[in-house]
Amino acid sequence: MVNDPEMALQYQADVLVIGSGAAGLSLALRLADDAAVAVVSKAALTDGATLWAQGGISVVLDPEDSLASHVDDTLNAGAGLCDVDTVRFTVEHSGAAIDWLIAQGVAFTRERRPDGTVGYHLTREGGHRHRRVIHAADATGYALESTLAEEARTRPNVAVFEHHLALDLITGAKLGLTENRCLGAYIYDRQDRKVKVFRARSVVLATGGAGKVYLYTSNPDVATGDGIAMAWRAGCRVANMEFIQFHPTCLYHPEAKSFLISEAVRGEGGRLLLPDGGPFMHRFDPRGELAPRDVVARAIDHEMKRLGSEYVYLDIRHKSPDFVKQHFPNIYARCRAFGVDMATQPIPVVPAAHYTCGGVMTDLRGRTDLLGLYAVGEVSHTGLHGANRMASNSLLECLVFAEAAASDIRADLVRASPPAELPEWDESRVTDSDEEVVVAHNWHELRRFMWDYVGIVRTTKRLQRARRRADLLTHEIAEYYGNFRVTNDLIELRNLVLVAELIIRSALERKESRGLHYTLDYPQADDSRTPVNTVLVPDNYRARGRRVSEDR
Ligand SMILES: Cc1cc2nc3c(=O)[nH]c(=O)nc-3n(C[C@H](O)[C@H](O)[C@H](O)COP(=O)(O)OP(=O)(O)OC[C@H]3O[C@@H](n4cnc5c(N)ncnc54)[C@H](O)[C@@H]3O)c2cc1C
Repeated sequence: MVNDPEMALQYQADVLVIGSGAAGLSLALRLADDAAVAVVSKAALTDGATLWAQGGISVVLDPEDSLASHVDDTLNAGAGLCDVDTVRFTVEHSGAAIDWLIAQGVAFTRERRPDGTVGYHLTREGGHRHRRVIHAADATGYALESTLAEEARTRPNVAVFEHHLALDLITGAKLGLTENRCLGAYIYDRQDRKVKVFRARSVVLATGGAGKVYLYTSNPDVATGDGIAMAWRAGCRVANMEFIQFHPTCLYHPEAKSFLISEAVRGEGGRLLLPDGGPFMHRFDPRGELAPRDVVARAIDHEMKRLGSEYVYLDIRHKSPDFVKQHFPNIYARCRAFGVDMATQPIPVVPAAHYTCGGVMTDLRGRTDLLGLYAVGEVSHTGLHGANRMASNSLLECLVFAEAAASDIRADLVRASPPAELPEWDESRVTDSDEEVVVAHNWHELRRFMWDYVGIVRTTKRLQRARRRADLLTHEIAEYYGNFRVTNDLIELRNLVLVAELIIRSALERKESRGLHYTLDYPQADDSRTPVNTVLVPDNYRARGRRVSEDR
C-alpha cells in the first residue's frame, strides 16, 4: 500500500477489498502472501452480518450424508432457479473451505460420539435432509469473524482502513479511457469527512446484503446494499433481486434491535405457537417447523395478520434448561437480558428481512461484468441460492468464492498494470447541507413502504405504488446529492433507494410466485416454461471485455 505524499488523498494497492466480513477478510487473507491488499470497511472491522451468524456453515461431514444430497437439497430450496454448476462447485469446495477456517484457528464445537471418538458436532437446519451444519456453539459468525479479523491485522501486506465508506467505483468508461476496467474507488473517510481515491489493479466488492432497505431486519446497520448500487452504476448487471429472504424468527422486543433466534432452535424441536399457545405450522406444511424459511415466514405473517397479533411464540421448553443453556448460550443470555428465560418461557418472535439472494452477477471466479471488478459474498449473485437460500449455505458461498476470486486475481495481477493517478473527488460545486431532515425523513419513508408494499406477501398494485414512491425519492435524493457535500447517511440512502428500485422492478417482472417471491396476483409457480432469472441490465452495460471506443 502506497500513500502518495504528493497527493495526500491518493492511495494505491494491488487489490482493494471493499468490506470485511467472511467474504472480504477471507479473500484478503488468501492473497496476503502475494499482493498488497487494502481492506476498507465502513464501520469497525468486525461490523457486518458475518459477526451475527449463529447457526453455522453447511458442509458434508456425516458419513450418512453425501455431496449429492447437499446439492439436491440446495436445488430443492432454490425452486428451479439455482445454477447447477454453481451449486456443485460450491458443495465440492465446502470441505476445503472448512479445513482452511480450522487452519486459521476457528474453534468449531466438538462432541464425543457413542463410539468414543471425538468429532465436530453437526446441527440440522430447515431444508437439509442431514445434520450438515458445522458451528461454534450458537455464535459461529463471531468465532469466524474475530479469528479472521485478528489474523488480518497481523499481516504486513494487509492494510486495514476502518470507518472508510466506498462511495463509487472509478472505471475506464467514466474517465473516457479506451479500456473499461475498474481502476479503484472513491472512499469517504467518515472520521476526516474527506473523499479519498483508492486505486488498485483489482477491486473486490464484499459489501454484504441490503436488509436495511426494510423496516424490520435481522441485518446490522451496514447492510445498505452499497456494493449492488455501486456495481449497477458502474454498468454491471444484477439478478434476482426480488428474492429477499425473511427470517421467520427475530426476537420481538421494542429494544431488541435485529436480534435473531437461530433456526437451530427449531432444528432442535422448537415449536411455533400462537399467542393462545396453539401450534399452527402443521396447517401450512407437513414438515412443520422444519419447512423452509419462506414457508415458515409466510405462515407466521398470515397468522399475525389474521389475528392482528404483533408476534407469535417459539417454544423450546421441552428441552432441559441445561441443554438450552449449553446449545444456545448466546441466545439464552440475550433473551434473558430482555426479560425472557427461554428455558422456562416461550420466546416472542416476528419475521424480518434477513438475506438478499440476488445481487451483482458473477461467474464461478467471482468476476463481474466489469474487467478488474469482483463481487463475493452476499453482494453477489452466483446462482447458488436460486429463488431461496438454504440455511447456512451463505457463509459457505463467501468462503468458496473468496478462494475462487483470490486465485483469479493472483493470476491477473501479473497482467494488470497498476492504474496511473486518478482524478480526485470534485467538491467544487457543492455546499454543506442545511436540510439534514430530508435524508432522515426519506430514509424512514423508504424502509416503511418497502416493508408494507414489497414485503413477505406482495401484489402488483402494491408494487406499483412502491415504484411511484421510489421514483419520487430517487429524484429528490439525486437533486440533494448534486447540491450538497456527501455524508454517510446520504451515501447510504442513495444506495438504498436504488436497491429498493431494483427489488421492485424485479418483483414486477416476475409474474408468478416462486421461492421467496410470493404475490397474491400470481399465487402459483408458472410451470408451463423453464424458470428464468430476473436479470436487470443497466443503460451503461457493455459486455465484458468490450472496449469503450466500440460504443462511440
Ligand atoms: C443475524 C444473522 C444470522 C445469520 N446466520 C447465518 C448462518 O448461521 N449461516 C450462514 O451461512 N449465514 C448466516 N447469515 C447470513 C450470513 O451471515 C451473511 O450472508 C454473510 O455473513 C455475508 O458475509 P459478507 O462478507 O458477504 O458480508 P458482511 O459480513 O455483511 O460484511 C459486509 C462488509 O462490508 C462492509 N461494507 C458495506 N458497504 C460498504 C461500503 N460502502 N464501504 C466500505 N465497506 C462497506 C461492512 O462494513 C462489512 O464489513 C446470517 C445473517 C444474519 C444477519
